[in-house]
Amino acid sequence: MKEEIHIYGAGITGLFLAYHHVKRGDSVTLYEENKTLGGVIATKKVKEGLVEQAANGILLTKDIKTMLDDIGLKTLFPKKASKRRYFFINKNLSQFPISLFAGTKLLYSIFLKKLKFYPNLNFEDWGNITFGSSVTKNIIEPALGGIYGTRLNELQAETVFSKWDGSGTSTIFKEIKKNKMKTYGTVSFPNGMGDLVSHLIAYLSPKIKIQTGVSLSSISEIEKQKGSVRICISLKKLTPILGNLLNPEEKPNLLTISTVTRFGETRLTKKPCFGVLFGKGEGIKALGVLCNSDLFEGRVTGHLHSETWIYPKLDGITTDKEMESIVETDREVITKNREKAKAIYKTTWEGVFPAYDRNLFLCNQKLDEIEANWKKQGLDIQFFGNYRKGIGLRSIFETTMP
Ligand SMILES: Cc1cc2nc3c(=O)[nH]c(=O)nc-3n(C[C@H](O)[C@H](O)[C@H](O)COP(=O)(O)OP(=O)(O)OC[C@H]3O[C@@H](n4cnc5c(N)ncnc54)[C@H](O)[C@@H]3O)c2cc1C
Repeated sequence: MKEEIHIYGAGITGLFLAYHHVKRGDSVTLYEENKTLGGVIATKKVKEGLVEQAANGILLTKDIKTMLDDIGLKTLFPKKASKRRYFFINKNLSQFPISLFAGTKLLYSIFLKKLKFYPNLNFEDWGNITFGSSVTKNIIEPALGGIYGTRLNELQAETVFSKWDGSGTSTIFKEIKKNKMKTYGTVSFPNGMGDLVSHLIAYLSPKIKIQTGVSLSSISEIEKQKGSVRICISLKKLTPILGNLLNPEEKPNLLTISTVTRFGETRLTKKPCFGVLFGKGEGIKALGVLCNSDLFEGRVTGHLHSETWIYPKLDGITTDKEMESIVETDREVITKNREKAKAIYKTTWEGVFPAYDRNLFLCNQKLDEIEANWKKQGLDIQFFGNYRKGIGLRSIFETTMP
């Protein structure tokens, strides 16, 4: 039966959700407080090339491919050379930064060790117990840091792997197998990620009602709404609206991220690559760097090289000049050369990422409870976003599928 769906927040979460409901034949109204749609995702065209404001790519699955075909968006696959991914460990670039012994231990932890989460341990301590310190420090720390925008001591395993059974009966391998869906690598689009937003809008516009300049301001307001309500606003904006519904330990911690896109004359690494991930204590402030022009065609004009550096909140850094100097210093640690950039573009997102820690785990439990209480009262209201079951676009796409 055709349902009436009201979606608040037209970032990618709201747009994906609107897409899924349109496919089901529902009647959708999308409300957005800004004038523009897409939330943090946008691509700026500058004279040196493309500058992504947030996501640089999306992990492709069969369902995402179907959606892209539907909205008429051509997929841009990465160049072959970008298969190379580096870790910067012990001041060196390495593709396999652990010893054979640590690698064997990692295999044991994945295939044979019973998977157990401990609510009071942060990810770093849990990782040391589960995989050993070498794997945790040299592989997991750099890999997750770049995705979650922070260091392992600010994350919690149970929150990051919320779909896994960590009660001590399963193994990591079994959980990966259970949750696995075939993926086809990270892709982008000819004019960058902004294409995804513009094509979704073009597809949805004739099929749904879109109201901009409309802001969700209270829970009681949506409880009165006729039809089903989907809350897709960011956690930063949702937390004050929820107010005292969240106990202090359920209040999420929010992380600030800065991205710096740098255009220069030379490549960061000798061979082209996807990017470099940085461990803790390597003398580098960045969490990771993506080598955009090695990764995708059409990211630069002429022979320039483009890199996007990702930073956690840096205390005391306020001006673009200070940020530029940090990027150049970080870069010099890798290249052993100081080369002036052609241009640098910086974006800072205050509180953009939910910290995937214990508070977020408890916050999500409370949101599940609130949804269940609404259901008992005959109300169909649900929360969606990058704080529910994964921060990336692929997770958001999957969790918004009805
Ligand atoms: C720097 C950076 C790099 C990233 N890189 C990647 C990547 O490479 N790959 C990947 O998969 N993911 C990446 N991500 C993650 C991904 O981009 C985000 O998780 C995702 O875009 C979040 O989308 P959203 O719609 O949930 O939130 P938002 O984009 O924040 O959208 C929320 C929308 O709700 C609106 N809104 C807010 N409050 C209200 C209100 N009260 N009433 C009505 N509307 C409201 C906002 O205006 C906004 O339009 C990255 C994120 C960042 C910040």
